[in-house]
Amino acid sequence: MPYQRETASKGGHSDLVRNPDIQAFLNDCAFLKQPSDDEARSIASAYLPAPTSGSLPLKVVASDASPYADPIDDKFPSTQVGYVKASLVLVDVRQFQDLSPPGSRFVDPFKLAALHRNADSYSFALPGSNIRYKGSASVKDGFRRAVWDQLSDERTSFHPHSRDFTVRGTLLALENGEAGLKKCPSCSAVHPQGLAHDLFVFTAGREVQVCPACNAEVYLTDTLRVHEQVTDYGDCTSAVTRFMNAVEQLLIATFVRMLAEHHPQILAEMAFILDGPLAVFGQPASISFTLVSFYHRIREELRRRGLRAPIVIGLQKDGQVMEHARSIARFLPNGTFHVVDDEYRDAYINSVNNENFGTETYFGQDFIFKTEKGNIFTVGLPYPAAKKSGTKEFSRLKSDLTRYGSDLGRAFDVVRHFELDLYENAVIPVALAHRHASISLKPGGKVLDLVTKNGLVGS
Ligand SMILES: [Zn+2]
Repeated sequence: MPYQRETASKGGHSDLVRNPDIQAFLNDCAFLKQPSDDEARSIASAYLPAPTSGSLPLKVVASDASPYADPIDDKFPSTQVGYVKASLVLVDVRQFQDLSPPGSRFVDPFKLAALHRNADSYSFALPGSNIRYKGSASVKDGFRRAVWDQLSDERTSFHPHSRDFTVRGTLLALENGEAGLKKCPSCSAVHPQGLAHDLFVFTAGREVQVCPACNAEVYLTDTLRVHEQVTDYGDCTSAVTRFMNAVEQLLIATFVRMLAEHHPQILAEMAFILDGPLAVFGQPASISFTLVSFYHRIREELRRRGLRAPIVIGLQKDGQVMEHARSIARFLPNGTFHVVDDEYRDAYINSVNNENFGTETYFGQDFIFKTEKGNIFTVGLPYPAAKKSGTKEFSRLKSDLTRYGSDLGRAFDVVRHFELDLYENAVIPVALAHRHASISLKPGGKVLDLVTKNGLVGS
């Protein structure tokens, strides 16, 4: 989602491109270009018929998050607060019901605006430049404190009686109960025996500690390292975007954890649609490693109980893969797909430099899918492995279609079912909420009630 403050580019751009120095520079750059018709036909010939599972999940959860950064007071534009709004909606597929009249494309602008304002979304506020939260010594320390306060309170709780199912609980669970931090986020002190050791080890009940060197409070959520981009007077938008990206992934993981523990049968019949690739970027990227293992454990656990794994989809609507997909779309037969393996990516999308794409950031594999109706999507599914690595072997494994089993067909079926909503609207939960019988997932422990009551439980 773009920043609200983002403005259109200023004029004068075409003058610059005509400048001979700029022309010479551009001639020295390699970048993505429209493939020739012959190239596009050749790429398209490798696409395979898209599988179907013939079944749909009972419920679909869609999530979307947007960052904002605004001055508190217009007279002091460099005093900023960052906000993140994350929305989750639950759609009951069996009670599928198109809310717009048959054949109508009419979207009620008032209803849509009301959904955008929806008070049920998860809201977070973060101090930006020139703001000291709760009397902290620096903007950065206040930022850390604000992240901790908000990720550990009821706001992110998915269970009414247990504080375990918050983002805080998930951060520990992803690390098998013990999350380490090498440096003090306030004074940069390290362990007396060097960086091979963690200075802080967070466990349940010991999520807040005090730095032995500077006495600053250090929080479990500091392991996300989002605060590292925060300075006293700098723009906070990049830290807010990183926070949003990590929190969206952690909220879904928290929901999945709670259901795996309390309602595995319901989880087995669910699909989750996230906005964007299955990846975590920037300082918090290390959780992409733990998310690979997490979704693997969930799959194994459900299979052990004789259940199917939930479908988790990262849906990309822009970015390099989609730009490539659109550039060849008219050559692709309807109802086909291709795995965006490292060879494909290197040849047509962006240079992978013989490395494993996404080693540091991704926890899912992208597929380009052109539906039977002719719409094109980039669909990510969690890597089918217990852990990821940068090896050639992992590069093969993550793109080995047989390892996805029926999950690929099941994911494509979800996309086919909600195709128009996913395609036409930039904000997927809003599209689904608007057009289908859906329920907004309220923060603060009420989610479980919503899943298990309200007639939304599979019988
Ligand atoms: Zn310290």
